[in-house]
Amino acid sequence: MSANYFIFDKNKCMGCQACVVACMNENGFQVNQQWRNIFTQNEVKVPGIPLFYVSLACNHCEEAPCMKYCPALAYSRSLFTGAVLFQSEHCIGCQYCVWNCPYEAPKFNPFEGVVEKCHFCESRQREGLAPACTTLCPTGALDYSIAQIDKTSITPGLKVATNPGPSLLILELENKNGPEMDLSLFDEEDKILKEKKTKQISALHEWPLLIFTFIISALVALSATETSEKSEEWLKWSMTIGGVFGALLSSFHLGKKIRMWRVILNLRHSWLSREILFFGLFYALMILNLWFFNLNYFVVLIPGILLLFSIDMLYLPVQQKWKIPFHSGQSIFIALSLTLLLLQYYWILLAFMIIRMGVSLYAFLPVDENLFKNKLFMIRWGLIDISIILVLFDAPFFIILLMILLGEFLDRVIFYNQLLIQKITLE
Ligand code: SF4
Repeated sequence: MSANYFIFDKNKCMGCQACVVACMNENGFQVNQQWRNIFTQNEVKVPGIPLFYVSLACNHCEEAPCMKYCPALAYSRSLFTGAVLFQSEHCIGCQYCVWNCPYEAPKFNPFEGVVEKCHFCESRQREGLAPACTTLCPTGALDYSIAQIDKTSITPGLKVATNPGPSLLILELENKNGPEMDLSLFDEEDKILKEKKTKQISALHEWPLLIFTFIISALVALSATETSEKSEEWLKWSMTIGGVFGALLSSFHLGKKIRMWRVILNLRHSWLSREILFFGLFYALMILNLWFFNLNYFVVLIPGILLLFSIDMLYLPVQQKWKIPFHSGQSIFIALSLTLLLLQYYWILLAFMIIRMGVSLYAFLPVDENLFKNKLFMIRWGLIDISIILVLFDAPFFIILLMILLGEFLDRVIFYNQLLIQKITLE
């Protein structure tokens, strides 16, 4: 297989964006729609730190996580150029590749409802032409090569969360020395630089997924408390409608709902495909158990647990700032909490909640200096305190239920707010 790659020389780039314009012209784009971007190191021009640019589009990685984890199998590899190609007609618009790519290459097009990205000018290369972006660079900073090379020997010169073997050779600055400065004087500017490197995923933006995953936790908890054909009608209807409602909600975030069926095509690698498979299995067995047969307890519970595990695994790529891959608001813990609540094992439940929050503190305190200023986090602690008082004073079940449900929901909100899409760090 050929292994063509981009070459970028930091010493020559002056940030003119000619490569961006060349890419837009080649692909017939409008303003504000671009696959190539210019990243600027030291955008606020702090003296003493080098100022340089890096031009990036897709790097057509050797171990491309976008391709590996796409649930709809919309990505493929060109045997001719080694490019990672994208078939937008297969895309369901879930944007999971956006979460997985460390180089911010796949771009979601809200008008089309699908993701798009650089195709390495595959058709031009087949005609013996160079990628358009490299032809318009006035300084020769951006180039490409068709020489055979071991991609593992390519040094990208970028600090990223994972290194999937990009087809990009970056030539480092020859002179990094500026005038000697006391950089502690520029704390504020440095902070601006750091904050630009991350993009928050918010509960507000991902609310359909938040509610869907919370409903799943509740359904698994209810199934764990031996609900069956003999359960009361209102409960059976609530569980049945809750599952359908959750599934419909989860489809809201897809750009192309009509292609939703493709979501289970990548069971081999994608946790998103597995989540949907286990959801279907769990829901079907839950319905059979509730309305037709009394199935064995574990027959419903096992796919439910696998479903919760798949949900939590799905979010691993965006747990960028987490010291350990653990959060109090993970689906599996919420389901366990709700199970203890339904069984009315209050003291075990309260101890479990405090341990979870304690571990969350351990995980986030060193990396989030504003943790105690986070109002939701503090309210969550307050709700635990109120729950302890309610249990101590033997409050009615439904009041304890409301308080715990509210606290667990808040935990899930905090979970979403602490997810980050890692942005590129230039070094
Ligand atoms: Fe995939 Fe991103 Fe690598 Fe391109 S740069 S192949 S989109 S992981």
